[in-house]
Amino acid sequence: MGLLLADSYSYAPEKILRLRKLIAKQFQQETDTVSDGHIQTFRDADVQRLFLLYDSLFFQSYFQLNGPQDICFHYNGRLTSSAGLTKASHPSRRTNPLHWHYDISLSKPLLNSFHRPAASITVNGIAPITQLEAMQLVLEHELCHVIEFISYGNSNCHAGRFRALAMQLFGHTDVVHTLRGAATVQTTFEIGETVCFQWKSVPHYGVIARITKRATVMVPDRAGDYEDRTGQRYRKYYVPLANLQKCKERLL
Ligand SMILES: [Zn+2]
Repeated sequence: MGLLLADSYSYAPEKILRLRKLIAKQFQQETDTVSDGHIQTFRDADVQRLFLLYDSLFFQSYFQLNGPQDICFHYNGRLTSSAGLTKASHPSRRTNPLHWHYDISLSKPLLNSFHRPAASITVNGIAPITQLEAMQLVLEHELCHVIEFISYGNSNCHAGRFRALAMQLFGHTDVVHTLRGAATVQTTFEIGETVCFQWKSVPHYGVIARITKRATVMVPDRAGDYEDRTGQRYRKYYVPLANLQKCKERLL
């Protein structure tokens, strides 16, 4: 059963970076359509190939051993509203999510529009250096959707459960993509806004309580010194504005 999958894996930031690089290296050895991080030809088999490497290196071949069997990976030439899309459909009378059909597609137009790295171009809170890395980050997000479906029968990347999973598995600090080169850097923040930032290499989410030269960000934390009316506890952080990122609602 796949019920434990979502809780089964958690990686330290260095390990995530190492595995992501290792996958990029092995992937480029296995295909002739991607080299130096650049996608020369969009071939659907490559998406499947990349997934198999993730399965092997991040999940110890969980997917190969347990399913779902009915899972399809491909590029999507018409997808522009998001960089990736996961669809799950339930054949009648089959309730085990491992027996559902999954269709995972990556946007060809958006990946194609990524030419050079920039601080303003981020996927899941991470600024990719290459087209291949952008593709990996998008696939990682979609894999989190699949894992949520398998584990809980539903998936929602707006919700905290998804964010926690994406963070513990892949170090994603956000569920936003700004893959288009035209994206601008956000410099204005408002009180009450949800933001994310890295603290000692660990991604944190919180709400801005005050802004001076730095922002005062209240991060939910059971051991925190601050408590709101509902009993939720927080820890207070002072974060330079340049280190903050908005948590926008453009989802993958
Ligand atoms: Zn999503």
